[in-house]
Parts: sequence; structure tokens; C-alpha cells
Amino acid sequence: TEVSKQRMLLATRNAHKTQEVREILGAGWEIEDLTARRDLPEVEETGETFEENARLKALAGAAHDNGWVLADDSGLEVDALGGAPGVRSARFAGEEASMAANRALLREKLSKGQGSDWRGRFRCVLALARHGVVLRTFSGVVEGSIASLERGEGGFGYDALFVPEGSRRTFAEFAPAEKHACSHRGRALAALAAYLTAENLPRVPGTLAGGDFLRVETFVVVAADDALFRAPRSAGVLQAGLMAARAPRAEDQLPLVGAVVDMVSLGATTGWITRPFTSLSGVV
Ligand code: IMP
Repeated sequence: TEVSKQRMLLATRNAHKTQEVREILGAGWEIEDLTARRDLPEVEETGETFEENARLKALAGAAHDNGWVLADDSGLEVDALGGAPGVRSARFAGEEASMAANRALLREKLSKGQGSDWRGRFRCVLALARHGVVLRTFSGVVEGSIASLERGEGGFGYDALFVPEGSRRTFAEFAPAEKHACSHRGRALAALAAYLTAENLPRVPGTLAGGDFLRVETFVVVAADDALFRAPRSAGVLQAGLMAARAPRAEDQLPLVGAVVDMVSLGATTGWITRPFTSLSGVV
């Protein structure tokens, strides 16, 4: 059966990030970014952490789009520079600085410093939003060191200076798939994909009869006949943020897999996103 693609707005104007997200998430997703969305303003990255900035960007995108919105905040931390450039990775050498200027400044600062402990890491935090709220954040890290000379033509940003642990080549000398298999962004997106497929949902025994109402402590649901979502076809009434699920009609018998918190449109069918129950305070 043909599974319709899911649409996702990636809240970025960085074409390299968009390309990587498309490569990593694969053919099941239609990823649009902000390059064609002149109506959406530039978000000021006022946060002090990757997570804060990822949330800011996701919320700004989600204010204009009720579907899936994803934001990526990432950067390079170098121990010898006290964690710099960090959240300022894109603007290390100034607000409008080119990446060549940012890399040059990094090399200059390191070569002037004491010692040769050029250990560092790339970090990526993704914030996933829908209907105006951030549902969750996901993070990924790749440890490595900074090379003294730029090498390689692939990748983007600081890739030509970053040698991941266990390799002698820079990320710019990696093939894209090879980079994604160990990169910060690849790891964060793997966590996101696992969340969306909800493959590890524990099954709560029993069924929910039509009209029943139950309370749950944590939620977010699964559903539909799409490969991406596992759950009953005729799951409950949904209201994002409401800690409850309800069988829509008296004749419906729903296997209890989790509470419904959001509706997903999968072409002709409708599915639900669910969260496993961690506690059930009973049918009320
Ligand atoms: P952001 O848009 O504030 O998240 O900027 C992230 C910056 O970190 C980018 O402009 C790059 O300079 C750097 N960066 C993030 N991810 C990577 C990567 O995978 N390779 C190289 N540089 C990266």
C-alpha cells in the first residue's frame, strides 16, 4: 500500500541543515524549510543554550503552521576555548560572518592558545512542535577534535576542521551517509524518529469501551494504519494537551495503547499520536 508522505516544516534558512534532515529522515517525509517563507520573520537566537534556541525557533515556526514543525539548534564546542563557539557557532566572527571567516577565527584562537588539547564536540538539539506547542526536544552529540588545517570538500560549517573520535578524517572527508551515521544531527534525528514511530509503546491490557473516559498522567499517542504509527484505526477523540482519551462511539472497542493527544493527517486516513500510559487513574 502506498503511504502518503508526512509534511514537516523545518524552521531554518540553512540549506545545509535542510539537506541533511532530508537525507536522514528519508522518503517518508516532505520537508519544507523557511527559504520560500518570506512571511516568517527571522528569529533572534537569544537563548543561552541550544535547547532554548531550538525551542524559540520551533515556536516561532509553529505560530504559522499547525503541522509538524522542527527546529535545529547546533554548534561546535571546543574545550580549550571554554566551550566556544557553542551557541554562537554561526556568528563566531560576527553577526554576518561567513563560515570561512568563522573557521579562520577558530584556527587563529587555537594556534595562539597554550597546549594542544583541541578536543571538542558538535551538539544538536531538535525541538518538535505541533499546534503551537513544543512536544519534545531531542539531542545528539559527537565527540572529536579540531584539526589544525582544513581538509575535505563535503559537509558544511566547521566540518573541514572536525575530526570525529575514532577517525583520522574530517567530517568534510566523510560521505554524507557516513557522517549522518555518527553525527550529532544524525543521532538527534534517530531519537526523533524513534519517538514518532513509538515502537516501544508498552501495551496496556484491556480495551476502552465506547463512551468511556480515562485519565492518564503522561500521554501522547500512536495510531492509524500508516507504517509510522501503530495503533487502533478507530482511536479516540483527541484534544492536544488534554490528559484524556475517549472512544468516539458506543460500539467502538479500543485496545488501550496510550492516550490520544494529537491528530495526524495521513492522506486519506487520519491517525493519532499517542503516548504510553505510565499511570492510569481509572475510567471516570
Ligand atoms: P544555528 O543555526 O545557530 O544552529 O547554527 C549552527 C552553526 O553550527 C552552523 O552555522 C555551523 O557553523 C555549525 N554547525 C552545526 N552543525 C554542523 C555540522 O553538522 N557541521 C559543521 N558545522 C555545523
